[in-house]
Amino acid sequence: NLRVLLAKRPQGAPTAEHFRFEETQLPEPSEGQVLLKILYLSLDPYMRGRMSDAKSYAKPVELGDVMEGGTVAEVVESRSEAFKPGDIVLSHSGWQSFAVADAKGLRKLDPATVPVTTALGIMGMPGFTAYSGLLTIGQPKPGETVAVAAASGAVGSAVGQIARIKGARAVGIAGGPEKCAFMRDELGFDAVVDHKAADFAERLAAACPDGIDVYFENVGGHVWDAVMPLLNEFARVPVCGLIAQYNTPEAKEADRLPALMRSVLTRSLSIRGFIQREFMDQRRQFYTDMSEWIASDRVRYREDIVDGLRNAPEAFKGLLEGRNFGKLIIKVA
Ligand code: NDP
Repeated sequence: NLRVLLAKRPQGAPTAEHFRFEETQLPEPSEGQVLLKILYLSLDPYMRGRMSDAKSYAKPVELGDVMEGGTVAEVVESRSEAFKPGDIVLSHSGWQSFAVADAKGLRKLDPATVPVTTALGIMGMPGFTAYSGLLTIGQPKPGETVAVAAASGAVGSAVGQIARIKGARAVGIAGGPEKCAFMRDELGFDAVVDHKAADFAERLAAACPDGIDVYFENVGGHVWDAVMPLLNEFARVPVCGLIAQYNTPEAKEADRLPALMRSVLTRSLSIRGFIQREFMDQRRQFYTDMSEWIASDRVRYREDIVDGLRNAPEAFKGLLEGRNFGKLIIKVA
């Protein structure tokens, strides 16, 4: 059994030295448990937070422990009535090739309906994050402008497409011409803007002639700076992620808080952070809606699948630098 452990807590970007590979014996399931062979591991930005011991909404991974993560796995041995060998399940087994899990924490997947990898992306946590955060906090109305960054990625691509389903105009922000072309031509965004362009702020303003009514915040940093002046009166800002600052939590910047608070007051802005699990009661409706949208080709998705657990640290580093193109997944087995 190959496992990836947290070896050291990174100060800046995570690199190979922060992880350690370890080979162990196969674990044995107890009563009520199953032995899983991990097929796919999801790599997500939140894992950077788990590598740090700074106070957050979830506990950090301890040094020497297996890195945490969502997985799609095959049951190879079962000591539970609920599962039999060969079943494919969604589990939270982390960065390893085999794991033991309590049967009650698993969800059975049906490989006949949609590809099982979607349980880690569009039909899983990232898709649900987009759905719940946009609809509950963003509340897009027909004709409004919804802007989103990291818009070719797992969460952002769903945000833009759901916004269009609700009749809003979707403006996608991403890094580089390839991602922008994909959002326009494949995902149907109404306008796309490359945040790496030197005149990014001007281009964004041109792409939003009526201002921005909903900004789904995934990034922070220079993207937020360009968005802020464009927010309309009564704009809503679901704060979902701030990936631009995950590797530089201590960065000292000019104090922009007074200007922000003035905008919140004078433009009656609503800025509201959320962690998707807050909206768990919407999960059933999400599965229904999202399956329908995928089946009718109103929502498309892209996965970036990297082969081999040994490549996980490098792929994860790339996720925080925008090197992934679509939902980042490691093919483990
Ligand atoms: P993505 O698939 O979108 O991949 C991350 C992308 O972020 C990169 O591809 C890159 O896209 C962009 N990015 C990275 N660094 C920067 C930067 N400095 N400036 C601008 N863009 C950058 O990841 P996810 O869809 O999984 O996650 C998107 C966001 O949603 C993250 O902030 C994540 O933490 C958050 N999230 C929050 C949840 C919640 O419950 N609140 C749950 C799940 C995710 P590009 O090349 O276009 O710049």
